Amino acid sequence: MKESLLYEKLPEDRVRCSTCPHRCVIAPGARGLCRVRENQRGILFALNYGKTIALAVDPVEKKPLYHFLPHTKTYSFATQGCNLRCAWCQNWEIAQSPSFQAPVEGRLISPEEHVKNALALHCPSISFTYSEPTIFLEYALDTMVRAKEAGLKTIWVTNGYMTPETLELLLPYLDAANVDYKGADDQVYQKYCGGTSAPVRETLRRMVAAGVHVEVTTLVIPGVNDSPESLDSIARFIAKELGPTVPWHVSRFFPAWKMLNTPITPKETLDLAEEIGKAAGLLRIHLGNL
Ligand code: SF4
Repeated sequence: MKESLLYEKLPEDRVRCSTCPHRCVIAPGARGLCRVRENQRGILFALNYGKTIALAVDPVEKKPLYHFLPHTKTYSFATQGCNLRCAWCQNWEIAQSPSFQAPVEGRLISPEEHVKNALALHCPSISFTYSEPTIFLEYALDTMVRAKEAGLKTIWVTNGYMTPETLELLLPYLDAANVDYKGADDQVYQKYCGGTSAPVRETLRRMVAAGVHVEVTTLVIPGVNDSPESLDSIARFIAKELGPTVPWHVSRFFPAWKMLNTPITPKETLDLAEEIGKAAGLLRIHLGNL
């Protein structure tokens, strides 16, 4: 574990974490909502530092990134934990664990080892992915600094739910990101994920303004964010505020975690999203999970 980079000390040994917009106030001995940051006697620790729960070499298109280092492999890893609780989480075994009391699991692998592995496996990039890199910020950042020194590119696959403070630390070392954007409807974020949408839009704007290669993914879920109005507002946001060349991945939902009774997204809905995206001016629309 490692001391968290972004928090402030409060009276009576409480702390306020500023890594993500939850800004959890955490009592001594307790953890934040992500369940991997713990207040130990007034010091906030990232319990997941150095603990890799998932590791693989993937095609970069699987992130998905279709316009960044195409046809290359990317060295990918994650720790346990996430700051959102999306009911349809496709990686819930690792992202929605541990519990508030359970130890954080994972194989001990240092940032240096990750970079060494990526080089040995001839991967031109390292991806922080599978769960949510925001909640393993310290581990990701240490790896990114070493990756850049070694000439590797860095990729975040993220829900975008992070603070400006986190972005400030991250952006100097970030080359590309796929950001999951579920739509402007805060009821969707609140009801299904336990978050809000504005911080995600702000992350997207700031990444694009900083020159990061950004691609956006929307998992289209029947009855949640599949209305023409919802799809239109997502497409318009991307086209107007991020730019018409920013790729939009419209992804098909398959039942997972708490949404096992929701049907698979009909192909017609994805086709409709494509039409809506084109009408909004988007030039790169990719239908996924088909
Ligand atoms: S990173 Fe974790 S502890 Fe920090 S504000 Fe977010 S959910 Fe809370």
